[in-house]
Amino acid sequence: MQYRTFNKTGEKVSLLGTGTMRLPLNADQTVDRAAAVSMIRHSIDEGVNYVDTAYMYHDGESEKIVGEALKDGYREKVLLADKMPIWLAKDEEQMKAIFDEQFERLDVDVIDMYLVHNITVPIWKRAKKFNLMDFLKEKQAEGKIRHIGFSFHDELSLFKEVIDSWDWDFCQIQLNYMDKEFQAGEEGLRYAASKGVPVVIMEPLKGGKLTDALPRSVEALWQEAEIQRTPAEWALRWVANHPEVLTILSGMSAPEQLEENLRILSEAEAGSLTKQELAIIDEVSAEYNKLIQYSCTACKYCMPCPQKIDIPAAINYYNEWFLYEGNPKLKADYPVWLTKGHQAGDCIACKACEEHCPQHLPISEIMKKTAEIYE
Ligand code: SF4
Ligand code: SF4
Repeated sequence: MQYRTFNKTGEKVSLLGTGTMRLPLNADQTVDRAAAVSMIRHSIDEGVNYVDTAYMYHDGESEKIVGEALKDGYREKVLLADKMPIWLAKDEEQMKAIFDEQFERLDVDVIDMYLVHNITVPIWKRAKKFNLMDFLKEKQAEGKIRHIGFSFHDELSLFKEVIDSWDWDFCQIQLNYMDKEFQAGEEGLRYAASKGVPVVIMEPLKGGKLTDALPRSVEALWQEAEIQRTPAEWALRWVANHPEVLTILSGMSAPEQLEENLRILSEAEAGSLTKQELAIIDEVSAEYNKLIQYSCTACKYCMPCPQKIDIPAAINYYNEWFLYEGNPKLKADYPVWLTKGHQAGDCIACKACEEHCPQHLPISEIMKKTAEIYE
C-alpha cells in the first residue's frame, strides 16, 4: 500500500480509503453485514487505515456496520471519518442529536475526521445558520472529534469561498478523469493544496460508471492502448497521479473489487503516468464527451424551479443514460438524488427556467424525456 502524509499531524494515510456507501448486498437489497464487516477488516489487514462512513449511507446501517467492523482491535488501526448531514436537522437541537446518535451507532469515543457533509449553497447557509462550525470547534476541544473538514458538491467558485472562509483541516471532493472540470475539479484540488488543505477524493470511478457497461467506442479505445489495464486501473491511476491527493475513497461492494484496488493503489505513484498514458485517458474522456446529449454546465441559473426539481441533476441523469448505455446503477441512483415529488416527471412545463439558461437548453422537453427513461 502506498501512503501519503497528512500535513496537519505527519500521520501516514493509505492511498486507498475504504468507503462504505455501496456495501455488499443480499438478494433482498439489505446489506450483507457479515460480508461488509469482513471486507472492511480485510482492507485494514492489507494496510488501509482510513475508513469513511456517513449518517445516511444505507439508512444508518453503514455507521453501525463500521462500528462493528472496528471492534476487536481494529479501531486503533484507522482514521475514522463521519459527516454531519445538516440538511436533515430542523434546528440546532436536532443537529446535536444527530451528532450524539452517530457516536451511539459507531460505538466509539472519538471520530478522527469529521466533515460537514455535501456542501452546496443551501447547505453552507444552513451550516452557518445553525452555528455548526462553532459546535464542531466545541466538540474538537472536548476531544470528541480530531480534525474538521467538509465534503463538497457544488461550483468551483463556492469551493474556493468555503476553503477561504474557515481554517479547515481537510476537505473531500469528487474527482475522476471525466469530472476534471466538474464541481471543484482539478482546479479545486490544486487550490485546496495551495492553501495547505489536504484533499480526500470520492467517486474516483464515478460510482462504477467508468468501469461497468462501457460504451463500445470507449471499450475499443482501451483495447487499442499499448498498455493493457482494466478501466478501474486507468481511472484510479489517473487520480493517484495527482500529488495533492491524500487518499482515494472507493466504495467497494465485492471482495474482488477490494483486491483489485489494493493492488493498484499499492503500485500507483504520484506523477508516474507518462505523456502517452495521459493522452489515452484524454482520448477516452473526449469520446465519453461526444456521447453527451445536452451540454449543461451545472451553472444553476435556471434554479429555483417551482417544482423544486434539481434541473442540472436531472439533465445529468439524461446524459448519463447515453454515456453509460443504460447502466442499471443509474436507475437505482436516480431516486436517491431526485426524490419523489421533485423528479423530472413533476415538471409542469412552465418554462420559467428556460429563459435563464445561457446554453438555451429546452429544459422542459429534457425533463419529459428524462422521466420517460427513469420514472
Ligand atoms: S419548466 Fe419544469 S423544470 Fe423548468 S422551472 Fe418549470 S417546472 Fe421547473
Ligand atoms: S441554466 Fe442551463 S446550463 Fe445552467 S444548470 Fe440550468 S440547464 Fe444547465
